[in-house]
Amino acid sequence: MSELGSDIQFLPGVGPKRAALLKKELEVNTLDDLIHFYPFRYIDRSSITPIVSVTPDLAYVQVQGQVVSRNLINIKHLSIIVDDGTGRMEMVFFKGVKWNFDRLAPGTTWLFFGKPQSFNGRINIVHPEVDAPQQDTTAKGTLTGVYPSTEKLKAGGVTGKTMCKLQRAALALCLPEIQESLPDYILQKYSLPPLKWALQNIHFPSDTGALAAASRRLKFEELFYLQLSLLKQKYVRSRASSGLVMQHVGPAFHACYNALPYSLTGAQQRVIKEIRADLSGGSQMNRLLQGDVGSGKTMVAVLSCLIAIGNGYQACIMAPTEVLAQQHFANIQKYLAPTGVKCALLTGSTTKKERRPLLEGLADGSVQLVVGTHALIEEPVKYKALGLAVIDEQHRFGVGQRAALWQKGPLMRYEQGTGAWVPVSVSERPAIPPGGVQGGRLSYQNVPPHILVMTATPIPRTLAMTFYGDLDLSVIDEMPPGRKPVQTMLIGQNRLPAMYRFMKEEIAKGRQVFVVYPMIFINEKMEDISNVEAGYEEIVKAFPLEDGYKVAIVHGQQNNEQKLFNMKAFVEGRAQILVSTTVIEVGVDVPNASVMVIRSAQRFGLSQLHQLRGRVGRGAEKSYCILVRDPKTGKDAMERLELMCATEDGFEIAEKDMKMRGPGDLEGTQQSGMPIELHIASLIKDGAMLEEARSCAGKVLDADPGLAHPRNAMLLRELRKGKYDLKDYSQIS
Ligand code: ADP
Ligand code: MG
Repeated sequence: MSELGSDIQFLPGVGPKRAALLKKELEVNTLDDLIHFYPFRYIDRSSITPIVSVTPDLAYVQVQGQVVSRNLINIKHLSIIVDDGTGRMEMVFFKGVKWNFDRLAPGTTWLFFGKPQSFNGRINIVHPEVDAPQQDTTAKGTLTGVYPSTEKLKAGGVTGKTMCKLQRAALALCLPEIQESLPDYILQKYSLPPLKWALQNIHFPSDTGALAAASRRLKFEELFYLQLSLLKQKYVRSRASSGLVMQHVGPAFHACYNALPYSLTGAQQRVIKEIRADLSGGSQMNRLLQGDVGSGKTMVAVLSCLIAIGNGYQACIMAPTEVLAQQHFANIQKYLAPTGVKCALLTGSTTKKERRPLLEGLADGSVQLVVGTHALIEEPVKYKALGLAVIDEQHRFGVGQRAALWQKGPLMRYEQGTGAWVPVSVSERPAIPPGGVQGGRLSYQNVPPHILVMTATPIPRTLAMTFYGDLDLSVIDEMPPGRKPVQTMLIGQNRLPAMYRFMKEEIAKGRQVFVVYPMIFINEKMEDISNVEAGYEEIVKAFPLEDGYKVAIVHGQQNNEQKLFNMKAFVEGRAQILVSTTVIEVGVDVPNASVMVIRSAQRFGLSQLHQLRGRVGRGAEKSYCILVRDPKTGKDAMERLELMCATEDGFEIAEKDMKMRGPGDLEGTQQSGMPIELHIASLIKDGAMLEEARSCAGKVLDADPGLAHPRNAMLLRELRKGKYDLKDYSQIS
């Protein structure tokens, strides 16, 4: 009979009522759950504070003294005065009044523990924990765990003390049953204590050293299994699908490279090297490329595509919106001019007439590079040999698109004579299923294209290793030279007239201005546009048509055509001001725009503000970002806005954002959620250990990819328990 799995109700001291509370409030259903419910901090119960030095700043104190008086103020209010020789202090009870009145008789000595507070100029403790006095008040080192609790739990009698008792009882029952979950060789290598010991000491540490060791062990285990499951997924995938081998760089790459008007930054060069190694390495590439807005990801994408093309494959670049796809296409065509590579644009608004020859070109391989929206991976589109797919701004893509993309990879035929795999063109596709066997050996296989996902949302490394842990990571951490800093300022609404004057000066110089309003969602779906519409009217009034001003407006409730029309008016310079919601956030490039105004800036998250600011400062002119805050801006929001004024470094902003909001709330991660829940480790505080755990997991899998070795049997068993099942979080890979 397993104790671990048994219902919490049957633990002595619990019973049906408390069980219901534990389940509801803490999701503790079984003894197993209970012993994995850890204290969130510890207090040193061996140290006793003299009353004279108790201040309300202390989180908790323990005082020991003699009751000098007890005063029953009413049947629900008992006041006790305690004296320890250094001073006097009041203990207050609103519950258990009669019982405490009886036992706390004048002349008796007790140990009181609780949070001191200041009340009417005096310090007291409300509802202290009361214990028999400690004889040896010099004893050191007993740490008591403090567990997360709720009002309902306390009211239901599950106090801190009760929780300790329950843990002690549960551990006594369960520890004999606990199976070690990390193999010896790992424990030894990382000097980790055994699991049983760690569980005992996380709840009841014998001293601070033991606590540190126990906590390290449990954190390591959590992070290790998280990384092991992520990396295992990666291994399975790269073994299941052999990658297209692209050994050459090819003339198109060189032609483009040599014609570049600038030299690549060190970071761009490094990333291209990483990608080249992937493409020629024999397994399928799944790489995430992070780089702040303006860091030059497009060039990296283009050069990567040219490698694929140089090896006889096709490539596609997929953007999240039509406007972006069009922009990419225009830019990329310039880069391609010296290469002779044939490039096309395919989006939802590509006409039927244009579409036919384009689809034919993709099917027969004459179109080598195609830029577009997700239309690129929709049903009628067939590639002769899609070798590389680049996905720009990954967080706008959904999970569903991943499978579609994989399907677009080429069908390869094994050539007996040369021993090589060659792509089969669409027209000569055989009737046999992919993976079919001919003459005793595999002769056809469907191979997924290499995949490069690009994002401008900087994610701290620890988060990236977790949220995109099954992808390889490249980072462009260097900006092209000559980029002018964007001057950022924070103003209140009283400065709006001055701001309008400033906007007019910039427009008079021939510049353009973004004015962005937050989206407000009603019932989680309907976007309230009254904000941006009112804003539009305000701007039109201040910038009238008769004076030659043209203002465009874009928001989420316009249909595609309206959106595109208005965006184009701005992109092409016909409108000087674009009033919009955050639809412009991603990737839009208007080098002539020099001012970004963000209204109700306090409503935006840091990453979003950073993204928006990245829309300006792309041209040669000095650029400005003006954050306009509303009158009631809270302290946290002010902190965010001030940070924006202080730095332009996306990674620094992302780190701070993670610390302020917690990892689960970060831009670009919310849609994905945490792949597994962490109970004890923290992605914010335990970054170094995360690296260690990832490297350990990597080594284990390098040596034994299938975890088939007997010494790894334990790892396989733990992974199968389900608690490490990854949610389907990674949007595309
Ligand atoms: P993002 O990473 O935001 O996609 P882009 O690829 O759009 O950035 O590049 C931003 C601008 O910087 C473009 O105008 C591009 O031509 C320019 N650029 C890219 N790489 C370099 C470089 N190495 N030196 C100078 N300018 C560069
Ligand atoms: Mg870009």
